[in-house]
Amino acid sequence: MKTKNLRTIIAAAVFGVMAIGLVVGVSTGTLSGFGWDTIAALCPLGALGTMIATKTMIPRAVISLVIMATLVLLVGRAFCAWLCPTTLIYRIRDYFRSPKKRKALAEQKNAEIKAISQQELDSLKPAKDAKGHACGACGKCQPVKHGKLDSRHAVLGGALLSTAVFGFPVFCLVCPVGLTFATVLVLWRAFSAGDATIGIILIPAMLIVELVFLRKWCTRFCPLSALMNLVGRFSRTFVPVIDDEKCLETAKGASCSKCAEVCQFDINLRHPDFGELTTADCTRCRACVDACPTKAITMPLLAGKKAKGTVVVADPALEDLEPKLD
Ligand code: SF4
Ligand code: SF4
Repeated sequence: MKTKNLRTIIAAAVFGVMAIGLVVGVSTGTLSGFGWDTIAALCPLGALGTMIATKTMIPRAVISLVIMATLVLLVGRAFCAWLCPTTLIYRIRDYFRSPKKRKALAEQKNAEIKAISQQELDSLKPAKDAKGHACGACGKCQPVKHGKLDSRHAVLGGALLSTAVFGFPVFCLVCPVGLTFATVLVLWRAFSAGDATIGIILIPAMLIVELVFLRKWCTRFCPLSALMNLVGRFSRTFVPVIDDEKCLETAKGASCSKCAEVCQFDINLRHPDFGELTTADCTRCRACVDACPTKAITMPLLAGKKAKGTVVVADPALEDLEPKLD
């Protein structure tokens, strides 16, 4: 089974269990406060917001933050790829896109990443960058300046500031994770008890606005991802690494970038300077591992221990690739 499908099944199963628990009144909570009865972990952002709003140190909130930090140190932003309903909704939306639209989007992403044709690439002199990589030498792709903080951290700052000003976690009202479960609840109440309020329009509408109009929610706006990024930059476990001896670009001087094309979180493993985010935001989704035609990417327990080996070309169409840029 493809990892992508496994991720969808796990996220859908967890969402389903929690949504059913919510509507039948079993105390499983939601992904913003999950557990059993009074033993429940809080969403780290909600936990932080609650402590700021009440100006009190709340043991349960502190424990939730410690759990979140430990998990992020171990598996980065895995929550985003494997559990978050927002990513699940994006995946379902992609699934229902017409094949034509999907193809157009894939082509657009390819074009953005490569930005130059193979013919142009072949004519480049010198064709490799200082590190011996095939792409990035022409200067046509614009490198991204990775600052310590980005737009998500600004949203995080705004969310915490508004909490301090208004005395309650304001962001929780618009959080897409909370809105997803709230949508389930209002719809259930409307259909089961005929209890239809304005929320039945307002809540799903807010969710749609966020996911449709703020299309890059996860990489540009989500304050929870900003919080995880602050811890994720210290994570050294299960970080994807490339074996240069197997990578088509370093071993054969060919242009590839498949790993960057598939990364939903805009990380460019081969050319980090050309990705919107860095591995501090890696969700351990394994899409790059699956997409690499030479199986050059692994996720070792400790980053820095690269796998050694000969070039294994998994896609026969690539077998006759000769170094094009030497
Ligand atoms: S770098 Fe690889 S594992 Fe990390 S988020 Fe991107 S595709 Fe997933
Ligand atoms: S997908 Fe594999 S071969 Fe292609 S650039 Fe990435 S690591 Fe190299």
